Amino acid sequence: MKYPKLRELKEAITSLFSSPYTTKYPKVPSPAAPNYRGKAEFDERECVVCGACANVCPAGAIEKIEEPAPYGKRRLILHYDKCIFCGQCEANCLTEKGIKLTPKYDLAVLSRNEAQISIEDKLVFCEHCGQPITTRKHLAWIIERLGPLIFSNPNLFIFSLTQIGLIKEKLPREVGVPLERADNLRILCPKCRREFTLKEEWGQK
Ligand code: SF4
Ligand code: SF4
Repeated sequence: MKYPKLRELKEAITSLFSSPYTTKYPKVPSPAAPNYRGKAEFDERECVVCGACANVCPAGAIEKIEEPAPYGKRRLILHYDKCIFCGQCEANCLTEKGIKLTPKYDLAVLSRNEAQISIEDKLVFCEHCGQPITTRKHLAWIIERLGPLIFSNPNLFIFSLTQIGLIKEKLPREVGVPLERADNLRILCPKCRREFTLKEEWGQK
């Protein structure tokens, strides 16, 4: 007959009267380490829905959906079932505060459709061709940072006037309508602005 060694016997008796080594999670919360990279969350006040985080996400976890002109929105959907918690979105956020990786790790859900969070904002469209330029929050953020320098950029200058109600935003034109000289005072996408700038006949009129 084999007898237990004294050391094991001592451990067995001690464990009978000591508290369990394992935690009581989920009954008792078990916070993650301070630098733990868990669920990423948008900050409604700081995110300008520019979409830079979607462009840098290596896992393609941030989906960008843009509705058409004239009243469409841009929506960013973060699918955290695809997220690899790399932190690139937070590191490259335009405003530096728009998205944060929180210490939340308990992310189990019953279906993939529940594993998502989103943020959205109205788009600003080219008043000539109707292509989306960026969101209203994004333009407002740039205007706030640039101050008087916005007067060197027609889009920013005109958008700032629409914001204070001095002029009204215009709807995009019908397809095929040519650019006119007065379109310098419209909000134009980079392609139409370039076309406008390079049009030779302005100087001849
Ligand atoms: S502000 Fe930051 S979090 Fe918001 S869309 Fe831009 S990069 Fe993403
Ligand atoms: S942590 Fe990485 S994978 Fe997850 S949403 Fe941000 S960039 Fe994408």
